[in-house]
Amino acid sequence: MHKIYFTPGPSKLYYTVEGHVKNALKSQVSSISHRSKQFENIYSHAVGQLRELLNVPGEFEIFFTSSATEVWERLIQNCVENSSFHLVNGAFSRRFYEISRDLGRDAVISEVEPGHCIDPSETNIPESVELIAVTQNETSTGVAQPLEDIYALKDQHPDKLMAVDAVSAVPYIDLDFNRIDSLFFSVQKGFGLPAGLGVWIINEKGIEKAKSMQRSGLSIGSYHSIPSFLSKSGRHQTPETPNVLGMYLLGKVAEDMLSKGITQIRKETEYKAALSYNLLENHPLMEPFVINPKYRSKTVIVAKTAIDSKKIIDKAGEKGMVIGSGYGQFKNKHLRIANFPTHSKEQFEMLADFLNEYSHE
Ligand SMILES: *Cc1c(COP(=O)(O)O)cnc(C)c1O
Repeated sequence: MHKIYFTPGPSKLYYTVEGHVKNALKSQVSSISHRSKQFENIYSHAVGQLRELLNVPGEFEIFFTSSATEVWERLIQNCVENSSFHLVNGAFSRRFYEISRDLGRDAVISEVEPGHCIDPSETNIPESVELIAVTQNETSTGVAQPLEDIYALKDQHPDKLMAVDAVSAVPYIDLDFNRIDSLFFSVQKGFGLPAGLGVWIINEKGIEKAKSMQRSGLSIGSYHSIPSFLSKSGRHQTPETPNVLGMYLLGKVAEDMLSKGITQIRKETEYKAALSYNLLENHPLMEPFVINPKYRSKTVIVAKTAIDSKKIIDKAGEKGMVIGSGYGQFKNKHLRIANFPTHSKEQFEMLADFLNEYSHE
């Protein structure tokens, strides 16, 4: 049976991926040299389509890593000499904080209970902090920090770098890049691609920080330091032999999303989210985990269940729908449902029918 993956990453592949993989194999993209003109075209196509889709200004560079986890480490290595500040409200934002601490930085944490958001007016960010880390969409709990909060924090601290983890919200979120310094994501979530590729977008200010740390004789890492990326990116190349197939597919899918229209994708995302939250608010066995509607993620919908969530997940599995379990401590207490561009309205309606019928143990 061909299953529909509603899991929040990896998830269902974007519906055009199969055809692109076939074409990629036919044109042997996995065998070409990463120093060839053919590769440079794949690279610049991916960057160009991403720039257009996400509306990335020219002063931002786009680099490719192996994952978003890698970007956490690279951001700290390249842009934080002493101290970073982390808004933490779940497992992913916590991991970013831990990486900074593991790299020996003074990582300052501002934490709230899972399912809640930090009020920017109540955070006390020390003067010594160089970078503020915000996880815009906390995939573990389905809580989303409003973009206005992120902009407000940046306005309060214009001298600090604002780094936004939007791994499970891109390309849905409509971010104003002029009000942040760095954004990153990996491709197995909203883009519906095979895992193994991360995208790191960073502006001149972040790049300058890395260069000045390097000039001071500090270690900023090796092959994936910002200066190392830049030594190759001008020629549309990468320092290492990269995930060429992943980059090819990303360019193609971004192009498909552009021709569908990002406005249309955003509208559909909002329709499917409204359908889901409305269902949860009226369900005898489940409710939205995030109480305040203002903080509910549109792309990762988390339900708190009155019964063992595994029972519901197993039953959905019998019908060919794979729903995500809760994360960590919430494993058997939550359902997590990805609402990505690949999930059609019809598929969401099918899922809603199943959940509506599931009203007893
Ligand atoms: C999945 C996820 C990550 C990690 O992505 P990888 O591709 O596994 O490195 C980081 N942050 C958030 C919010 C995520 O959802």
